[in-house]
Amino acid sequence: MTVSRLRGIPPTIFTEMSALAAATGAINLGQGFPDVDGPADVVERAVAALREGGNQYAPGPGVPALREAIAHHQARHYGLTLDPGTQVVVTTGATEAIAAAILGLVEPGDEVVLLEPYYDSYLAMIQMAGGIRRPVTLRAPDFRLDVTALRSAVSERTRLILLNSPHNPTGTVLTAAELRAVSEVAVEHDLVVVTDEVYEHLTYGEEHVPLATLPGMFERTLTLSSIGKSYSFTGWKVGWASGPAPLVRAVLDAKQWLTFTSGAPLQPAAAYALDAEPDWPHRLAASLRERRDLLCEGLRSLGLATTVPQGTYFATTDITGLGWPDGEAFCRALPERAGVVAIPMQGFYDPDRDRADQPGRQLVRWAFCKRPEVIGAALERLAGADLGGPLG
Ligand code: PMP
Ligand code: GLN
Repeated sequence: MTVSRLRGIPPTIFTEMSALAAATGAINLGQGFPDVDGPADVVERAVAALREGGNQYAPGPGVPALREAIAHHQARHYGLTLDPGTQVVVTTGATEAIAAAILGLVEPGDEVVLLEPYYDSYLAMIQMAGGIRRPVTLRAPDFRLDVTALRSAVSERTRLILLNSPHNPTGTVLTAAELRAVSEVAVEHDLVVVTDEVYEHLTYGEEHVPLATLPGMFERTLTLSSIGKSYSFTGWKVGWASGPAPLVRAVLDAKQWLTFTSGAPLQPAAAYALDAEPDWPHRLAASLRERRDLLCEGLRSLGLATTVPQGTYFATTDITGLGWPDGEAFCRALPERAGVVAIPMQGFYDPDRDRADQPGRQLVRWAFCKRPEVIGAALERLAGADLGGPLG
């Protein structure tokens, strides 16, 4: 039934794996959502907005207080100056910002250069827009940007670079030198860059530098983020895009036909979070760092080769040698074997690759945005299980 523009896009792995966790009672270290909510005073703001009549359509670009708070956030943390009237748009999660940016900026036949592995909605939206993917692979175990590969992925048909740092699923935080290389390529080829920075505050040592702050980049960079990761409200789906007015306009041009406007009562609460709790995400990052170490040390002690992430809330392991044909088979068996759910990373790699050249085939992603006792219980279950596969 489904139309050709949706054909061949694999179903999102998150739904399948969370359903598997619910059905089996397994501990869900798959889909990335915290098991503790964000600040209670922010929740109270949302409740107040619901009670006090903030329940009708918000303005298309977002409630003014939130647009102002986003502009202040970019100024406070990064020294960027934004006009909240023309350079900020509120979206239904970063997911809608990604969709609207790609629909608003990519012509059929345009090429989009993006880091592989990539967040799954990028592939779906590029295909729906009629664009062509040009992946640049971050290779295990370090997942660094190969600047030569980036340069050779760019052609005269490239329209934009779709960047993501801190990077899901690898946890890479692009260094100043890597970002400089991206900016040089963008300026040289006069490209737009859409940069997904939803994990901007969740870094563990390596500082997150927004691409828009590099020389010559503000005018060609659209920056995306959301309240979900920074404030542990993934279910709120309040996101935003900011940057020069023409790029924000392109997002709005598409967004007005996708959702018209985003949920009104959560927007003043999101504004309050950004304005009144500016340090909350840093405290979250400090606590996540401890949980990252707990998970990574535990996975290593099980004999799994583990890449410690510099950002995000995901760690990567290589299951080569355990006797599984691939990570998908491993992750499908894991709930029954160990009562734990993780995410196979092959779904984040280009589906057009032939199977022999699948750099993500043996990689598995584990989320550590869970309470320490939950991570500990998952590690105990894994330690007590036989993780060897049918080929072992
Ligand atoms: N981009 C990346 C890299 C993500 O990991 C996620 C997952 N939350 C999103 C975008 C989507 O963000 P939101 O939930 O705000 O739509
Ligand atoms: N961003 C989260 C992850 O990577 C969840 C995304 C989703 O469920 N679509 O796990």
